[in-house]
Amino acid sequence: MTALLSIENLTVEYAIGGKTLSAVSGVSLQVGRGETLGLVGESGCGKSTLGRAVLQLRRPTAGKVTFDGTELTGIDGEAMRRMRRRLQLIFQDPIASLNPRRCVGDIVAEPLIIAGIKDKAERAARVREVLTAVGLDADLVTGRLPHEFSGGQCQRISIARALILEPQFVICDEPVSALDVSIRAQILNLLEDMKRRYGLTLLFIAHDLAVVKAVSDRIAVMYLGKLCEVAPSEQLFRRPAHPYTALLLEAIPVPDPTVRPAANLVVGEPPSPLDPPSGCRFRTRCPRADARCASEVPKLREINAGQFVACHHPLTN
Ligand code: ADP
Ligand code: MG
Repeated sequence: MTALLSIENLTVEYAIGGKTLSAVSGVSLQVGRGETLGLVGESGCGKSTLGRAVLQLRRPTAGKVTFDGTELTGIDGEAMRRMRRRLQLIFQDPIASLNPRRCVGDIVAEPLIIAGIKDKAERAARVREVLTAVGLDADLVTGRLPHEFSGGQCQRISIARALILEPQFVICDEPVSALDVSIRAQILNLLEDMKRRYGLTLLFIAHDLAVVKAVSDRIAVMYLGKLCEVAPSEQLFRRPAHPYTALLLEAIPVPDPTVRPAANLVVGEPPSPLDPPSGCRFRTRCPRADARCASEVPKLREINAGQFVACHHPLTN
């Protein structure tokens, strides 16, 4: 696998009332060209912070982000602005992420204006093309305001805006979490279509493993700022190695109504990232934890081809 994106030892800290919150703590990860990497974990574990640090929307406290041979953590603001057209972000809340006072045509054209494309006819043609690609009728939608559309349609508009500069890499930050269950599959299918059509590489963030499974080649599981497990999707589902992954899998609702879902398998709330547990951060909720887990931080290591786990007592093998 040739990595398009490489993250090394990434750490992002927030200062909160004299304390340091380590939202992302020494994460290393690679995303291959053309790959979809799913990033999953409970709310608050640092997924969005990681995504924003990759795009340098928030400069990381430590670590390196390298995209297609360029170290993003080492370039200045102007160079990053030029780079930005190759990396885009799709947000969770499609309605809130669109300017309510601007018409759809202007919203989708905005990246072109920022990129310095002055020819109005060219901009209009590209807006039409990308709106059509995301399944909207350009004639009907360009003059309208975001509030005239449903959540699903707004997410199509957001996707059009993210794709209009033909980026190579797109971070989808919980793109279907705020949408009605009935239209999630449509948006996931659209992202798959767009991936093929534009040859994209995706980092797909979600708190729900079932959503991530549908789209990902590999999956990274995150807990309280650290990676627990990284593996090819199929392997992760068939033979999870980290106890946290296993609990997340068991918590996925079963479509069969006669099978009772195992409720609340991951018991309790995650500890505060302001004061994370010593050693393994998952140990306070882990059925397998022992003294070693409290004293020694487990390193992410390869236990099967392509399957990495940060656990002293992994489940398989
Ligand atoms: P996720 O996307 O997985 O839900 P986030 O990356 O949004 O997680 O948040 C990770 C942690 O960082 C949380 O504890 C959150 O409260 C904290 N956090 C996020 N953004 C900020 C911020 N701008 N200032 C301070 N703390 C933040
Ligand atoms: Mg988030």
